[in-house]
Amino acid sequence: MQNLHLTTGLSIILSVSLLVSVVMADDSFDNIEIQTIKAADGIYMLTGKGGNIGLSTGADGVFLVDDQFAPLTDRIQAAITQVSDKPVKFVLNTHWHPDHTGGNENLGSSGTVIIAHDNVRKRLSVDSFIEMFNMQSPAMAPAGLPVITFGDAVTFHLNGDEILVRHVMNAHTDGDAIVHFKQANVIHAGDTYFSGMYPFIDGNSGGSNDGYIQAIDQVLALADDKTVIIPGHGPISNKQELTAWRDMLKTIIEHIRTKVGESASLEQVQASMPTRTFDEKYGGGFINNETFVKMLYQNMTQDPS
Ligand SMILES: [Zn+2]
Repeated sequence: MQNLHLTTGLSIILSVSLLVSVVMADDSFDNIEIQTIKAADGIYMLTGKGGNIGLSTGADGVFLVDDQFAPLTDRIQAAITQVSDKPVKFVLNTHWHPDHTGGNENLGSSGTVIIAHDNVRKRLSVDSFIEMFNMQSPAMAPAGLPVITFGDAVTFHLNGDEILVRHVMNAHTDGDAIVHFKQANVIHAGDTYFSGMYPFIDGNSGGSNDGYIQAIDQVLALADDKTVIIPGHGPISNKQELTAWRDMLKTIIEHIRTKVGESASLEQVQASMPTRTFDEKYGGGFINNETFVKMLYQNMTQDPS
C-alpha cells in the first residue's frame, strides 16, 4: 500500500514522479474483484483486497463491517446492490488498520454513519506507524472518522436481528471489536482471526499476545457448532477450525514464553523452531513462520510504546 503526503513547493519533476506512483498504486487494485459469499439469510462476506467485509441486508438497510480500501468502494457498492437496493446505513470498523477502514472517507461523505471503538477514532485521527511492515499511515480525513464511538459494547437492532458489538481488550490492537449477528448465528471476528494462517498482532497499536488469545476465547464463547465465523482474513470458517487455530497459537506462545523465561535470545528461540509442526498448515499466508516468531517474541519482551 502506498500513502503519499503531498506538500507544497514540489518541483514539476517530483510531481510527475508522484503522479506515476499514484497511478501505480491504483494499478494494484485494477484486477481486484469483489466476491460475495453467503454466510446466512441476509448476511454475506465480501472479499476483494484487505480485510473481509461483513454485510447485513434487510428492510432497515445495509450494515457493513469494515470497508477495505478507497479505490474499491465503487466495486463494493456494486456488489452490495446485487443483494440489496438499500443504501449503506452504517459501517462498523473492527479496528483502525487501513485495510479495514480505507473506504471510510468515501462512505462517510455519502451519508453512511461510521461506528467504532473509542481507540479506533483516536488512532485514525493521527499519523500512525507500524514497525513490522515499515508502514506509515497518514491521519484519516475528517469525513472518514467514526462519528459514534463506544467503550465496552454497542447493540444494533436492525434487519430483524440483534447485532452485538463487543470490544475485546489489547488483542490485535487496542480498539478491536467482534460482531455477533445473534439471530443469524454469524460472528465477524475482525482481525482476532486470520483463518488458515499465522496472524499479525500489532504491538505498536496496543495489541498483545495474551489479549489476543483472550479475544479468541470470547469469540469461541459466543459460538456453537453451527455458527458461521467470518475472519478478518482468510476463508469463511467455524468453531471447530477456530478452536484448532487457537490451540496452535497458545502452543507456540507458551513455547516462546518458556524460552524467554530461560533468557533465550530471539535467535535461540527461532532455532528451537516453535512453529515447526504448524508451518505446513498455517505458514503460507500473510506472514511467514520466521516473522511470526519474531513478532511474538518482540510483543513479549519489548515495550512497544
Ligand atoms: Zn488488522
